[in-house]
Formats: sequence, C-alpha cells, structure tokens
Amino acid sequence: MDIRNVMEDLVKTVVDELFDAEAKEKRLGYCTCDQCKHDVACYVLNRVKPEYIVSSRGLAYSEREGLDKVQRQADVISLVREGWGKVSHAPRQTTAHYGAEPETAPVHDEGPAYNFPTIMGRVFDGRNFAPLGEGRVRLLEGGAEVQMVDPNWQNPFVLAGATAGTYIFWPRTVSGQEGGGGRRWNFEIRVEVPGFDALSHFAVIDLSPEREARADFSLQRVHKVPDLYLFPEGQADEDI
Ligand SMILES: [Zn+2]
Repeated sequence: MDIRNVMEDLVKTVVDELFDAEAKEKRLGYCTCDQCKHDVACYVLNRVKPEYIVSSRGLAYSEREGLDKVQRQADVISLVREGWGKVSHAPRQTTAHYGAEPETAPVHDEGPAYNFPTIMGRVFDGRNFAPLGEGRVRLLEGGAEVQMVDPNWQNPFVLAGATAGTYIFWPRTVSGQEGGGGRRWNFEIRVEVPGFDALSHFAVIDLSPEREARADFSLQRVHKVPDLYLFPEGQADEDI
C-alpha cells in the first residue's frame, strides 16, 4: 500500500520555506537551527488533522485549488508561528541555538558519499497511547552509538519538551569508495525509559553513494520509524 499524508507534505514545505526566509531576513528573531526546525514541524504535525491519500492520486490532489487550500495553508502558517515562538522560548538545552558555538554547518568529507536521511519516530506508553516525555533513545550500529552529522544532533536523544515522544537522528555522512555500489545499514533504535521495559527496533536503510556529501538540511529526506509502544517493567513482553 502506498499511502501518503498530504498534510505532512504541506507542513514540511511551509516550515522549510519560513525557516529559509527567516535565516536570510531575520525578521522574527527566532532560531533557525535544524533542531528547532524539526521541533516546530512536529509541533504542527501533532496539531493538524492528517489527510491520507493513495500516492498515485497525489497529482489530482495537488491540482485542487481554491479557498479550501488557501485556508489550509493559512492555518498551517499560523501554527508554525505559534510553535516556533514556543520552541524559541524554551529551546532544548543540549543544542546550540541561534548559530552559537559550535558552528552549525555540518562537517562533511569530500567526494563520493553515503548521505543518510534523518531518522525519526515516536514512542508511546503502550497502556494509554500517551507520548513518553522522558527517557532516552539511542541509535546504534553493531552495538556502538552512531556518530551524528554535527554536535547539534544528540545521540542518545533525550525525550523532553514540547515535542514529547518524538526523537530524531541525523547520522554523519560516510565516505564512499571509488566505484562503490549500494550499501545496507542495519540500525538499532533502542528506547530506554525509567520504569518501562527497554525496547529495540531494527531499521534497515539502503543507500547508494552520491557524488557529494550533503551539507544542506531538508525535512523532505526522512526515514520514518513506525510508532513504538513501551510497557511497564514486569508486564508481558510485547514484541513490536
Ligand atoms: Zn534552535
């Protein structure tokens, strides 16, 4: 099944555009770092009604014009501003904001490169489906923590703040060999929340080498992990 949430496309596009404009013009005085961008996108996506379509019909949808579309866009823009204001006033402690130390530009190697998507998902309390607001999520490969693209990205990711339950990683680009082909990565996403049984989810990502390392950040390149549900320690094991 190829099903898409068109609201997600709209929110990502609007957030990308508004952050790009703010980075250039600095009219709002809000932080435009990658972490805040993701936090704002999550804030909005958690507050709009999803709208699912079969992917092959995407074109028909995008051709739909009129007041409905304009209104929808206006709603998203106002939610972005609302969320951005909140995120900017209570930014994550672990991130360097407003381009402060350390430099926000990702450090990359030259040449053929395996560029990772960001890896994103949510964790919930399996009893009541509430998002989990504390604990940590680790991205592992072969049992070791995966290096992030720059120090603004956390691994382990600490669950906290306005975007409770959401975690996100952006692994550092890996240099490709000359003439190298596609490669497969087996990642383990390990969730540890006090009072709950730890849970591991395994994600497989296949990548082809690209000519250059990507330094630009886009919300359009995301590997989405299915929602994960944790249960209190001692309850029956739930394999997801
Ligand atoms: Zn920020």
